[in-house]
Amino acid sequence: MTATPIHSSGAHAGRYCVLVHGGAGNVPVERRALHTAGCLRAARAAAGILAAGGAALDAVEIAVRALEDDPLFNAGTGACLNEEARVEHDASIMEGRDLRAGGVCALAGFANPVAVARAALEEGRHVLYAAHGAARFAIARGFVPAGDAALITEAARAALTAAQAGGGAISWAGSTVGAVARDAEGRCAAATSTGGMVNKRVGRVGDSPIIGAGTYADDEAGASSTTGNGEAMIRLSVARAVAERMRAGARAEEAARAEIARALGRLGATGGLIAIDREGRWGIARSTVTMSWALAGELGEVSGI
Ligand code: ASP
Repeated sequence: MTATPIHSSGAHAGRYCVLVHGGAGNVPVERRALHTAGCLRAARAAAGILAAGGAALDAVEIAVRALEDDPLFNAGTGACLNEEARVEHDASIMEGRDLRAGGVCALAGFANPVAVARAALEEGRHVLYAAHGAARFAIARGFVPAGDAALITEAARAALTAAQAGGGAISWAGSTVGAVARDAEGRCAAATSTGGMVNKRVGRVGDSPIIGAGTYADDEAGASSTTGNGEAMIRLSVARAVAERMRAGARAEEAARAEIARALGRLGATGGLIAIDREGRWGIARSTVTMSWALAGELGEVSGI
């Protein structure tokens, strides 16, 4: 993925808001409106929860579930495929009051991995479940496997065929999803979900399920969700680094921009992220051509790509 000049924006979002992303990448011009509309639908659904006095944690789960259910995005239904043409999902979720967190990685066969991650957060025994153990945990918690047939789209198959025809290159799928929110009580939360990369090795895990890399929330700082070059995001602990900048007083947009610049400058890695700080200011930044996003909250709605 080629780097473009870093683009960022942000403002104050009122007492409560939810901000979602539909992944860093390069969405063709004719499909951009679809991606923005998908983000807006998800943000709207989640903002309803916040408007009714609901919790940021519920809002980010609802938003990410909506994006997982939308086959346009690389998460849940429509997620990209690994080298064996199977789906392996990564997802995580975190809340900022007690720093509870849950994640699943290399999880096959479930439509809403973020909901399984939420179940891990609620149970509180372990933070991260992998592969067969994650599936076993999901079933024990009452989740019904959807199976690959229900989750794999024609577009995902075509992307794998193209990647394998091109010498088996592992290519960046784009369209990972994530959400951050702050509720009227000042609680923050974040969640991220993805199929990862097209033609990835079986068992490859990216940044999205890793607390501190793909997802982080702390009411004393803010919340962030990342997308892009997952290996780099892990090595730089980007989501946590954004939070630390906000804890030190940076606005969400400044923190987002600084970390996207650091990934590019230090490792030549491209990507994007969304953030909300403890004051309720939101920020987005990307070094890719596109990153669809939408915000909905007390002061209204705004979206872009
Ligand atoms: N960060 C994701 C991963 O590496 C991919 C993406 O955001 O598109 O799994």
